[in-house]
Amino acid sequence: MTARILVVDDIPANVKLLEARLLAEYFEVLTASNGPDAIETCENGKVDVILLDVMMPGMDGFEVCRRLKSDPATAHIPVVMVTALDQVADRVRGLEAGADDFLTKPVKDLQLMTRVKSLVRLKMLTDELRLRASTTRNIGIEELLSRKHFDDGTTPKVLLIDGRESSIERMRKMLRQVAELDVVTDPHAGFFQAAETPYDCIIVSTAFDDFDPLRLCSQLRSLDRTRFIPIMLVADIGEDDRIVRALDLGVNDFLVRPVDQHELTARLRTQVKRKRYNEQLRASVTETIEMAVTDGLTGLHNRRYLDSHLQTLFDRAVARRRPLSVMITDIDRFKSVNDTFGHDGGDDVLREFARRLRKNVRGIDLACRFGGEEFVVVMPDTEAHVAEKVAERIRAEIASTPFAIGRDGQTIEVTVSVGVSSLLRGLDSVEAMMKRADVALYEAKTGGRNRVVAKAA
Ligand code: GH3
Ligand code: MG
Ligand code: MG
Repeated sequence: MTARILVVDDIPANVKLLEARLLAEYFEVLTASNGPDAIETCENGKVDVILLDVMMPGMDGFEVCRRLKSDPATAHIPVVMVTALDQVADRVRGLEAGADDFLTKPVKDLQLMTRVKSLVRLKMLTDELRLRASTTRNIGIEELLSRKHFDDGTTPKVLLIDGRESSIERMRKMLRQVAELDVVTDPHAGFFQAAETPYDCIIVSTAFDDFDPLRLCSQLRSLDRTRFIPIMLVADIGEDDRIVRALDLGVNDFLVRPVDQHELTARLRTQVKRKRYNEQLRASVTETIEMAVTDGLTGLHNRRYLDSHLQTLFDRAVARRRPLSVMITDIDRFKSVNDTFGHDGGDDVLREFARRLRKNVRGIDLACRFGGEEFVVVMPDTEAHVAEKVAERIRAEIASTPFAIGRDGQTIEVTVSVGVSSLLRGLDSVEAMMKRADVALYEAKTGGRNRVVAKAA
């Protein structure tokens, strides 16, 4: 894992110390000796994680953190506060200033590397999502990326999986005001509970008599439905090895007993905030991708999607020696629909046509709007004679019932011509197969329309 870490401290010896240890782990290191320089470096360069000293003359670490977190250009860079004292109040102040984590001096290697690595991993994920979101054309995305607060502020739903009664009671008390808490004592039951309910965070305790809590963490990380839910581990003193392995497995954060209430709630808040941020980014990316491959009028896939998938379906059919058929449909005399009922009337017909088309093909068939009033359906695992029957069924479905136009009960009879072709044994290509369907469609048109023509070869 290579990443660029910015070390900020007013004492040169402290900078040198952290720099040496990070370089030994092959991180790239930038340094700054005061707050304003640190902020400038973040604004200019690609910083992945900041290790920020708290006590500095002039602008202290809390202030630097607050400024970074309130600027949309730097808000997503994880900040680790390095505090001189092991003071809970300082930690909480740091987390309130927006810090993602903190370390206490003297900084232990275990803490340094695990925190930095886990934050780098998170940063990479966020960067990837930001990049994908911003390279696609989504009007809402700019606004979304510049937003500071993704958290809607609702009480987070938290699942605690803990085998020790006394520990559960303490956690219950500490989380009473801040989370809607479910508790499960059996790790297997906990796993299923986590898979069934959408939680904002899962807290896993290491206190089980005969069960390895890391197994549970690893299962939660590999299941699709729980993959992105933050996991916090609550461990006992002396479980350093276990904590390192947990973080390697993708556990997001840990606490060591006795758990401090402020630290618990501040860390929980950070995890939930991050989860909600990434969730919204992810949803927005998905939506943008869907928009790019969907036809806005009919909701079917568009031509771009067809172009990128037809070759794959074709290659798969050839490799598996399975049949494959396509049909091209073209609405008859569609121009006259527009001429009579206007463009909106034409659109009504296209929407209804797409609905009937979708209704008459299988889920694995790929139905797309090819352009204008032409649609294409790709049918995997479908022999020519079956494809011809499907095409005939669609033709009949269109011709049998008139299409409604507008809201005042007007209707119009619509017919469609269809060309069908199928994958040939021996030498064939996507282009040749599509060409045969197109020729068949042309024959259907010249032969009188409202008919299906299939090209065997
Ligand atoms: P043919 O039976 O030979 O197919 O006759 P046609 O009138 O359907 O053929 P042509 O391809 O010449 O005309 C298609 C028309 O479809 C022309 C165009 O204005 C119209 N059209 C294309 N896209 C849309 C659309 O999104 N909405 C509407 N309302 N009309 C569209
Ligand atoms: Mg037409
Ligand atoms: Mg046409």
